[in-house]
Amino acid sequence: MTNRPWVLAEVTWNEVRSTRYAAAVLPWSATEAHNRHLPYATDTVETEGIAHEAARLAWERGAQVVVLPCVPFGVNTGQLDIPLCINMNPSTQGAVLVDITRSLEAQGVLKLLILNGHGGNDFRQMIRELQPATKVFLATINWYRVVDPAAYFDEPGDHAGELETSVMLHLAPALVRPLSEAGRGSERKSRLRGVREGWAWAPGQWTRVSDDTGIGDPRAATAAKGERYLGAVCAKIAEFLVEFAALDPDDPYH
Ligand SMILES: [Zn+2]
Repeated sequence: MTNRPWVLAEVTWNEVRSTRYAAAVLPWSATEAHNRHLPYATDTVETEGIAHEAARLAWERGAQVVVLPCVPFGVNTGQLDIPLCINMNPSTQGAVLVDITRSLEAQGVLKLLILNGHGGNDFRQMIRELQPATKVFLATINWYRVVDPAAYFDEPGDHAGELETSVMLHLAPALVRPLSEAGRGSERKSRLRGVREGWAWAPGQWTRVSDDTGIGDPRAATAAKGERYLGAVCAKIAEFLVEFAALDPDDPYH
């Protein structure tokens, strides 16, 4: 018996047959450049790490959820000119989500949480479209929106900055290059005032926004900051999973 029965990649058919899973968690990330000091799998390492820890905490409280393997490709249409940034279009992601949901539905796992770890992904519209066509109750969380990072970091940054670098220093320090090799992650702001102020939006052209693919200065990052922040994030997601596991999908309101 594995010591992590909530990690599907680590359990056998025998264990799966004898466990009643109340819900599934699907981590979904991206494969993309993260400044000069973090690896292309950064979003995968983070999102899987958070899913596993939140599920562990949920199991401690009796909520038997199962974490599916992470889908490692995200929407990266703004990074197509960066070598080996791999784009998966939203319509393709929608098709992947339909197939995974149908598999779970046929097997009687009737709740699915998509844990998203990449800013270019947005599963809400896909869920709106899919929900009327399936018995599986669908929900999504962007893990980087769960806890306000202001109390944990000097300047969290948007991509490969202090927040992400701290999280990686905590989860996978061997994959982080010396911070002296990192670029400053300076960001060129839009000429459109609405975009600058955040009430209008247009997709970013990454190589024009940043010289080193990062947004946010990573130099104040530490493993201790990452650990404290992730502790808060995982505790809240675990709490969600406990409620989610107990939820009757036919009666989701008070
Ligand atoms: Zn990232």
